[in-house]
Amino acid sequence: MIERSIFSEEHNIFRGTVRRFYEEHIMPHHSQWEKDGQVSREAWLEAGKQGLLCMPIPEEYGGAGADKLYSIIMMEEQARAGATGPGFGLHSEIVAPYILNYGTEEQKKEFLPRMARGEIIGAIAMTEPGTGSDLQGVKTRAVKDGDDYIINGSKTFITNGFMSDVVIVVTKTDPEAGAKGTSLFLVEADRDGFDKGRNLEKLGLKAQDTAELFFDDVRVPATNMLGGEGKGFFCLMQELAWERLQIAIGATATMEAVLDDTIEYTKNRSAFGKNIIEFQNSRFKLAEVKTEVQIARVFVDKCIEELLKGELDVATAAMAKYWTSDLENKIIDECLQLHGGYGYMWEYRVARAYADARVQRIYGGTNEIMKELISRTL
Ligand SMILES: Cc1cc2nc3c(=O)[nH]c(=O)nc-3n(C[C@H](O)[C@H](O)[C@H](O)COP(=O)(O)OP(=O)(O)OC[C@H]3O[C@@H](n4cnc5c(N)ncnc54)[C@H](O)[C@@H]3O)c2cc1C
Repeated sequence: MIERSIFSEEHNIFRGTVRRFYEEHIMPHHSQWEKDGQVSREAWLEAGKQGLLCMPIPEEYGGAGADKLYSIIMMEEQARAGATGPGFGLHSEIVAPYILNYGTEEQKKEFLPRMARGEIIGAIAMTEPGTGSDLQGVKTRAVKDGDDYIINGSKTFITNGFMSDVVIVVTKTDPEAGAKGTSLFLVEADRDGFDKGRNLEKLGLKAQDTAELFFDDVRVPATNMLGGEGKGFFCLMQELAWERLQIAIGATATMEAVLDDTIEYTKNRSAFGKNIIEFQNSRFKLAEVKTEVQIARVFVDKCIEELLKGELDVATAAMAKYWTSDLENKIIDECLQLHGGYGYMWEYRVARAYADARVQRIYGGTNEIMKELISRTL
């Protein structure tokens, strides 16, 4: 395989630490969490203790002030381990940066250090039962009342939603003003009128909590607004390239891990007096998979380089998100086939990966929306 050139020696040492963290503190519990539909609070606290949460956040707010390559290693190792339960990425790489970039000094001090320690869990609630792709169609209302706002509405499919302690809620403060009428609020889970509905049963990501959230006359002080009135849409648009690249990073690391597993499996399983890998069909399939994974790896690493230079544009990130997540689904299917019946058994990573991968084409903006974005540059 073409050697990767984006990481330094320090990054490689850090990778070993993260790999051990997943092996020792996450994977031994993962099948229980799949049954529970959520991971344990201890896992979050341990990640916090080891300094693995909110790594890009400056030290003064409890983070490590680390460059994005550390975050990327965290994501790659999580995917490599097959640890799809913990919503660390969303918490550390989406929610915390919103607070850092758009929050007031008080908001940063109040939430970021506790998020970095794993004491509180963050979520972001955009999607509603009636609207997902069309974010401008959000119906949740925030109405000013003296020094407060009163929030009414409901959200669904919210990652970390069931365990969340603080949620960035996308609301309309002026429904007539289109995108300029959208505002974000930090809503703590213990506010009166804020209810978590079901922890939703999903096709995959079984250990990941994904919830409905209901807001019934939830009163929050105006100081809980994030980024200013009418600025919500603007804030949501700023980090889209990075948020989408995160999906491509996970997809590529997952493909590499599933390929490794499949090579191993086909070397050890035999039929008709031969190892499965000796059949020409198996070798050709694996040769195709290896080639495609290599192409994905080179493209994603190039996108990472562009991101680090601050030059990754929305369309290229959309290409990475759509193409790698489509490829991930295709490749896992090929690898599952090479496992025969065992590939259909939950105890095999390839079976879980097959179920987990499907949503990659849906969340973070569906792949159809990605093609819309790319086609605008034609
Ligand atoms: C496991 C999981 C976790 C999630 N986590 C979060 C989260 O943490 N926070 C959050 O806010 N949301 C979250 N989501 C929601 C996710 O982002 C949405 O499901 C997604 O954006 C699609 O919205 P939708 O489900 O309403 O589908 P719809 O928008 O109703 O789309 C239905 C179909 O129509 C297509 N379509 C829609 N518009 C167009 C168009 N203009 N052109 C072509 N085709 C189009 C779509 O591509 C799709 O195929 C999560 C979803 C899942 C399943």
